[in-house]
Amino acid sequence: MPEPTIFGKILDREIPCHSVYEDDHVLAFLDVNPLSPGHTLVIPKERVAFLHELSDDQSAAIGRVLPRIARAVLAATGATDYNLLQNNGAGAHQAVFHVHFHIIPKLGKRGLGVGWKSTSLEAGETEELVVKIRAQL
Ligand code: AMP
Repeated sequence: MPEPTIFGKILDREIPCHSVYEDDHVLAFLDVNPLSPGHTLVIPKERVAFLHELSDDQSAAIGRVLPRIARAVLAATGATDYNLLQNNGAGAHQAVFHVHFHIIPKLGKRGLGVGWKSTSLEAGETEELVVKIRAQL
């Protein structure tokens, strides 16, 4: 068995968290180092590192409650804007290798800062990608 992640330990009640929501499949709690007040993490109880490893059932369970938790965070903080962030892999800033969704209220300057360096693809690359991705689905 792999060493449990910090979120696995939270699920096992080995370490505490500030829980705001729980059901049979999902736990949500406040981030210990929030980017803004109300920064909340929503995790599946299934212990996988990356979104693409998550079962359909657990994905559905998360999808069902994310908007509801986001509404509660907005109502509690007074925020109207927020980011939903989900990192996969160390190169994509993932630090805890248990799938998690961040709900991050934008409150003035507090919240997520995004560097968005858009690019464009070579001629034909888009069509090629569509064919390749569709073939995998
Ligand atoms: P990520 O970079 O997407 O893996 O984010 C991991 C997040 O988990 C960070 O925002 C951390 O502040 C948060 N975090 C780490 N340990 C804990 C903990 N024990 N309780 C709550 N949040 C945590």
